[in-house]
Amino acid sequence: MPTGTTDLIEEFQRRWEGTPRLYRAPGRVNLIGEHTDYNDGFVMPAALEFATTTAILPRDDRKVRVHSLALSETAEFDLDQADPKPRRDWTDYVRGVALMLERAGHRLRGADLMLHSSVPLGAGMSSSAALEVSVGYALLAESGLPIDLIDLARRCQEAENGFVGMRCGVMDQFISCHGVAGHAVLLDCRSLDFRPVPVDPRARLVICNTMVHHQLAGSEYNLRRQDCERGVELLSPALGPIRALRDVSLAQLERHADRLPEVTYRRCRHIVTENARVLEAATALENGDLHRFGRLMIESHESMRDDYQISCRELDVMVALSLPLPGVYGARMTGGGFGGCSVSLVDADAVGHFMKSIAEAYREATGIVPAIFTCVPGSHVDAVKP
Ligand code: ADP
Ligand code: MG
Repeated sequence: MPTGTTDLIEEFQRRWEGTPRLYRAPGRVNLIGEHTDYNDGFVMPAALEFATTTAILPRDDRKVRVHSLALSETAEFDLDQADPKPRRDWTDYVRGVALMLERAGHRLRGADLMLHSSVPLGAGMSSSAALEVSVGYALLAESGLPIDLIDLARRCQEAENGFVGMRCGVMDQFISCHGVAGHAVLLDCRSLDFRPVPVDPRARLVICNTMVHHQLAGSEYNLRRQDCERGVELLSPALGPIRALRDVSLAQLERHADRLPEVTYRRCRHIVTENARVLEAATALENGDLHRFGRLMIESHESMRDDYQISCRELDVMVALSLPLPGVYGARMTGGGFGGCSVSLVDADAVGHFMKSIAEAYREATGIVPAIFTCVPGSHVDAVKP
């Protein structure tokens, strides 16, 4: 598996002819604002230095050949194929992006592609969006087409929603297109207005991978989305024309709680309180109030665990073991849930001790060796300079 640019080019040339160009798009960690994106709400992710790199060489026909180094698998498809159907495997991400770009009127050139990812697959760091955005960007650039990053994020989201069958919001694709080095990004998922928020240099973000991934992640994700839609439907007669849970305050939700089944009410309460937490967290980070920010992370985790019910034992253990360690401001699960990673905000001076202690404590509690790393917020999708 290549790690550097030269390795990827050599790998490409072992399989296909010619010298490819490279495009990389980052994965992400979400600091706060989980499942709020598809409710038109607020999120605050940061792009990672982990990324997916697409090596690409255009072809003279409309065929696309793609090889994934992570999976050692190759696939082939034709951009002219009428009405392509999902195959329910990794190639759907690639074929979906090409399809949605074409449907939006971008006439693409065929190409040979090779994918290398340093984002762990399926670990909640959004390898799927990193793949979509790097492939989409590469196809547009090599077809000589102008690239609008908002449009690209939307088309990639459409690919995941309408072709892969995962009804995700826009957060992952957006941050892969708009990440700012050294910053988290406060994003309004309705207007797509965003504001970079510097990550305080006195603290570090530490990602703790539980190494578990429960299979129900995809189906439960779509079910949560349905719960939110049901909430909007049931609250609308009382609140007037609301479009999403973004439009509901906690006071309104509480006043009309009797209109909702208990579970729907709790799902809605997570979204409504989480939106408020994201806005407060952005202000706290901008004011250098790390204690407040950490407190909001803890409240966010509790809300996901108890109201939204998207955590799991391993994530709860990771967070619970993190919080009492010296120098920890806060911790929460991050990503879609049911496994994957937690993120902790840790004092820069305490980070070495934290990483060692949490790894040992988690292994002792679960028997699983976790992956622990500090994260430096990275930049958005771009061409890799030769
Ligand atoms: P996450 O986005 O958190 O990593 P997802 O389940 O959304 O988790 O996406 C993971 C899936 O994306 C993988 O199972 C695979 O189908 C696809 N994928 C991501 N990166 C690659 C890659 N480099 N090569 C092939 N498939 C990939
Ligand atoms: Mg994903």
